[in-house]
Amino acid sequence: MEYMIKSNAPRRVREFNFKTDCTHVFFVSSSGHCSLDCSYCIVNPIVKHQPTLSYEDLAFLLGRVDGRALLMFSGSGDFFAGYRKGEKLLARILEHDVEVTLDINGVMIHEFAELPEEGLRRIRYINLTMHYVQLLRHNALKAWRDNALTLIGRKGQALFLAGFVLSPPERGHWREAVDFFRENVFEKTGQRLVLIKDVNTRFGAEDETVLAALQEEFADLIEEAFQEDFSTQFQHHSHVICPAGYSYFHVWNDGRVQGCPYIAGLADCGNLKERRFEPRPAMFKCTSARHCDCNNIALLGKMVFPESSGVAASGAGR
Ligand code: SF4
Ligand code: SF4
Repeated sequence: MEYMIKSNAPRRVREFNFKTDCTHVFFVSSSGHCSLDCSYCIVNPIVKHQPTLSYEDLAFLLGRVDGRALLMFSGSGDFFAGYRKGEKLLARILEHDVEVTLDINGVMIHEFAELPEEGLRRIRYINLTMHYVQLLRHNALKAWRDNALTLIGRKGQALFLAGFVLSPPERGHWREAVDFFRENVFEKTGQRLVLIKDVNTRFGAEDETVLAALQEEFADLIEEAFQEDFSTQFQHHSHVICPAGYSYFHVWNDGRVQGCPYIAGLADCGNLKERRFEPRPAMFKCTSARHCDCNNIALLGKMVFPESSGVAASGAGR
């Protein structure tokens, strides 16, 4: 019986075949800076003017990999806020044998508009989040709208997810935000919006009422309301065989390479700023799968669930 992933991800991501043939996957928090200050940011304190991975750091890593690498740019800061436009980090990375996913806030997109078609094809997926209250406070709504239209124009629809975080303390702005998206993005491009429920603040009855009213009023443009719960798909498994440290790595803006941030034995797999990359020789038997990285690995088709049959577990170690 083939194991069916009860994935916790927005429907668009679940429907999009996220499985990859890339030999190595790097979840890369490349940027040491974010221009926004979202109250619901899970990074505390929000990264400001911290070290950032350079092109040379990433080129070193790619030079140590046989085969194609998937670089998933996400995490602590905003990818584009981590470098100056003239550095063209994204364009230069896309010249390698890579696939790339971007998780960005859309305040700046640097050289994206000028990327050559070949480079653009190597971007598998873009997740753009509209942090409306922050955009309002930073007087950045127009810049965000222009960037969103450029991103969608070049890479929209099936390969694109636009999200808006519903945080209860900002409830007074929810309707205004969705209406802004409708007028400035949906009516121009047809791009729909996923509402992401803030996991850090409990939704009360009034929050649910406002959410239901939004879903009714904007039924044509809201794809779904979604709450992250990374543990769901692992709850019936005593363990998994995980490629963390073997072919999956979490790379941080200060250069650290970890197989897995949650398992002490997998915490050090090198440091790009020290030009060290030290993978483990085998996969890892893990009884602690419940985190964001675990979810990413499963979505990518790289996690081995012991109940499934016909899935190669060769190389599995301890
Ligand atoms: S845009 Fe993302 S990284 Fe930046 S403050 Fe907001 S939630 Fe945090
Ligand atoms: S916690 Fe998750 S990512 Fe880390 S080793 Fe376990 S299954 Fe893999």
